[in-house]
Amino acid sequence: MSIPPIRSDLSALVGYHSAQVDAKVRLNTNESPFAPPQEFVDDFVAGLKDEHLNRYPDRRASALRAAIAHADEVHPDRVFCANGSNEVLQSLLLAYGGAGRQALVFEPTYALHSHIARVTGTSVVAVNRLPDFTLSPDYVRGAIEKEDPSLVFLCSPNNPTGLSESLDVMKAALNTTSGLVIVDEAYGQFALDSATQLFKGVGGERLVVVRTFSKTWGLAGVRLGYCLADPAIVEACFSVCLPYHLSSLTQSAGMRVLKYGSLMDDHVEAIVAERTRVLNELNKLDVEVWPSESNFILFRPLSQGAEMVWQGLVDRSVLIRDCSSWKSLEGCLRVTIGTREENTAFLNALKETL
Ligand SMILES: *Cc1c(COP(=O)(O)O)cnc(C)c1O
Repeated sequence: MSIPPIRSDLSALVGYHSAQVDAKVRLNTNESPFAPPQEFVDDFVAGLKDEHLNRYPDRRASALRAAIAHADEVHPDRVFCANGSNEVLQSLLLAYGGAGRQALVFEPTYALHSHIARVTGTSVVAVNRLPDFTLSPDYVRGAIEKEDPSLVFLCSPNNPTGLSESLDVMKAALNTTSGLVIVDEAYGQFALDSATQLFKGVGGERLVVVRTFSKTWGLAGVRLGYCLADPAIVEACFSVCLPYHLSSLTQSAGMRVLKYGSLMDDHVEAIVAERTRVLNELNKLDVEVWPSESNFILFRPLSQGAEMVWQGLVDRSVLIRDCSSWKSLEGCLRVTIGTREENTAFLNALKETL
């Protein structure tokens, strides 16, 4: 007996991993350091009693979509929800990618854009960012004209480099492509601008803005993400997702947490203030630092190898992300902004290690 080989186009793919090492201070996966508000947890737990768990959930998650639409000031027909924004991305790729179609990404960026594309049989064209990790409208226009992709991925703010794309870059993409422009705003709440203001402009019907409850909302464990897009794109996502893909518990969690938006804003404010402090401290050390509009900072130790610095931090029970083996990120590390205490622990451990 032998197990059949997996799809030949998958055999070269490595799964997505983030090193899981025991450490007291965990600043490696860009989660919120804050638990969701206790009022929400109490509300959620109390609500569980009313869920009819013997029944399938609302297949179209209508109440949740209406609540998100209300918060984001759009029509509910323009909202699609799934188990994390990763599943939203997968749905978009299943509907608009697939065999014979191409997705364009600008690297370095979020590895899952190309990973999920390949899993769905979509071929990936990876174009390097400019040396300072930015993009310009002309550069993006040129890449789209050359490759004619079905989907263009932008990540704003970009993980792992930290900066947002300019609205001009997004407009250039929308003006040039005939495919979808997917703007991943997983860290959008930490940034100054949002792509959503481009829905009304040229090509706005091809714009998809993807968001998640995993980062700012402190609900990475719940697995809930969504996109805002033209109703036709939302329907296309419904046509490829599994029936009842979003559990009633997930739908309930999302609806209930939205009531606590102002507490989330407080968390965002605290993280942005800490980001400024950590950036200032890093700038005094022997490292190169990139500016950030997100809840993480990319930096490169100048006189020591990244792996040694990473290990030095782990030895002091601080876990950050080693990006040094990623393309174009030689020698780079990425730290998530945590609580004040966690950030201080990181900065002290880094000073000792350096
Ligand atoms: C963390 C992250 C996500 C979140 O994915 P979920 O599936 O919603 O948890 C999406 N996009 C980017 C760029 C991220 O960094």
